[in-house]
Amino acid sequence: MTTAPRVPVLYYHRVSPDADPRTGVTPDQFSDQMAILRTLGFAGTSLDRALSWKDSQEGPTRPPLAITFDDGYEDNYLFAAPILERFGFVATIYFVAGRMGKRVDWTNDPVWAGHRLMEPAMARDLVRRGFEAGSHTLTHPDLAKISDTEARREISESRDRLCQELSTPVTTFCYPYGSYRENHPFMVRDAGYRAARTTRRYRPGGRSDPFRMACRPVSGRMGLPRFTLTLLAYRLGLKGGDVR
Ligand SMILES: [Zn+2]
Repeated sequence: MTTAPRVPVLYYHRVSPDADPRTGVTPDQFSDQMAILRTLGFAGTSLDRALSWKDSQEGPTRPPLAITFDDGYEDNYLFAAPILERFGFVATIYFVAGRMGKRVDWTNDPVWAGHRLMEPAMARDLVRRGFEAGSHTLTHPDLAKISDTEARREISESRDRLCQELSTPVTTFCYPYGSYRENHPFMVRDAGYRAARTTRRYRPGGRSDPFRMACRPVSGRMGLPRFTLTLLAYRLGLKGGDVR
């Protein structure tokens, strides 16, 4: 497989005043974090744009940092998007193509189950505003636990469906639970995506496999000092500089 520049990627779920700290951050926390990104000189953007950054006009001035959200919660539309835009940022939202406008039904864990997912109309509005719509499968299965035929369908049909429903190219994918088998990155590539995000921990430096991209999860349990030091380490390119 080809390699891609190692772009720092943040990984969020919910942004809501009532978010359990395990599932997300409050709008105030999120706003403070975006202010840190801007102070450190990062351009907060989508994964797709970050991967093409050197070709863009902003490339020489500010390093890109991809901001990603898994599952496509309605609160991303209500709370996260307006905050991002205040800082001149956009992000990638990984939608579960078969669950848009519905509620989380892939787990019984009360911390996650039942939360409202974004309506297609909201997603279309975000695309119009420059956000990236990525695929997080059709039904949010653990890909390592289903057959190759089912996995191929989850990877490929979700892309077709989102492209059609949201009238946008869908170029990046995200593995539910960060779980996949060794052949799945090839399936993702063959389905027409350019990259895929895992839940592996990001480290600065070098190049990486674009179909197994690493990230830094951010939950409500990550305090601002730790967030700041982690991002400062990324900005300075310190290998192993992540602060747990
Ligand atoms: Zn997910």
